[in-house]
Amino acid sequence: MPNSQISVIGFPLDENSSFMKGPAKAPDVIRKNLDSYSINLCAENGVDFRDNPCWDDVGNVELSSGAEAMDQIENSIRGLLDKGIKPLSIGGDHSITFPILKAFAEKYEKLNIFHIDAHPDLYDNFEENPFSHASPFARIMEIGLVNKLVQVGIRTISPLQQNQIDRFNVEVHDMIDFDSSMKFDFDGPVYISIDLDGLDPAFAPGVSHHEPGGLSTRQALQMIQNLDYEIVGADIVEYNPDRDINDMAAMVCVKLLKELLAKMNN
Ligand code: MN
Ligand code: MN
Repeated sequence: MPNSQISVIGFPLDENSSFMKGPAKAPDVIRKNLDSYSINLCAENGVDFRDNPCWDDVGNVELSSGAEAMDQIENSIRGLLDKGIKPLSIGGDHSITFPILKAFAEKYEKLNIFHIDAHPDLYDNFEENPFSHASPFARIMEIGLVNKLVQVGIRTISPLQQNQIDRFNVEVHDMIDFDSSMKFDFDGPVYISIDLDGLDPAFAPGVSHHEPGGLSTRQALQMIQNLDYEIVGADIVEYNPDRDINDMAAMVCVKLLKELLAKMNN
């Protein structure tokens, strides 16, 4: 049996969520739906990921809190990368993406991020918490962890965040100008970070911050499927089971996970 190339890893952390808790419960609820016999695990490219040795699930990382939790996340991702495994992380709130990218930046010099979200998450200082889920991309950009950050689905840009967008030269495709035929240009490998609230709450009600006017599930899938670049890692964050209806958004996470497996399995 070949060694798995992709590992799903759960980070049950929501202490950096500003408005409500709940995303810490997400990894287990997503797994429950992944294992449901109401669905199969075929991606739309025809590959069946049920019992497929190309990936495994390494479970949740037990986390403490504060900076120590951030270090634990970074170290667990580094452990996978050192073994040549592509991590597919399930959060947790969006604060997990900063420590994940710290580990990635050691391995990939010219890494790019394709980021789906309603929010730019670029606040320099949000409620005095440097690890806030409103700030991961400020932390990533201010120390130059990646070559390029491209954001789509954005529809909440405040003046403060616009300053940060300009400061870090972020390529933002906001919803007001959304065009499903737009093309993305990257030089080097791509990391995909999906905040579930990038989708419209009609499609994914299980998020802490409902921001109408977002992407349809199909639009999100198409953008991912059409990314013709090496996808070296990904995360799905901000799913909040406490806000979900009949596991609808959990199943959106499962769908996204299947398509990410398909993109990463190359
Ligand atoms: Mn968001
Ligand atoms: Mn976010």
